[in-house]
Amino acid sequence: MVLLKILNKLRRKIMLLINKDYVIKKIVKRRGKCLKCGKCCIGCEYLNKKTRLCKVYKNRPNWCHKDFPIDEFDKVVFGVRNNCGYWFDEQKHL
Ligand code: SF4
Ligand code: SF4
Repeated sequence: MVLLKILNKLRRKIMLLINKDYVIKKIVKRRGKCLKCGKCCIGCEYLNKKTRLCKVYKNRPNWCHKDFPIDEFDKVVFGVRNNCGYWFDEQKHL
């Protein structure tokens, strides 16, 4: 799972570099809101395990996935396909 997250991070970076339109189009179709469950931050040293909130939210490091999720695959990688508060218009929220 850690390897998948690293590869996904690379995928996001590459897409932002060479296909930023994909990311923009996806984010435009994103619906919902963050439920502050902290599940996409599991493993990050800045996650407060008690409150499940980010300890450095206003000053997040560059490697942080600030725009999470950019698509359904992002959610799959982080194991939040069915419980993240965001979904994408072209897909049903299961
Ligand atoms: S998994 Fe989704 S709802 Fe939970 S903290 Fe991350 S973005 Fe917010
Ligand atoms: S720095 Fe980013 S990944 Fe880490 S807890 Fe904060 S929001 Fe989550």
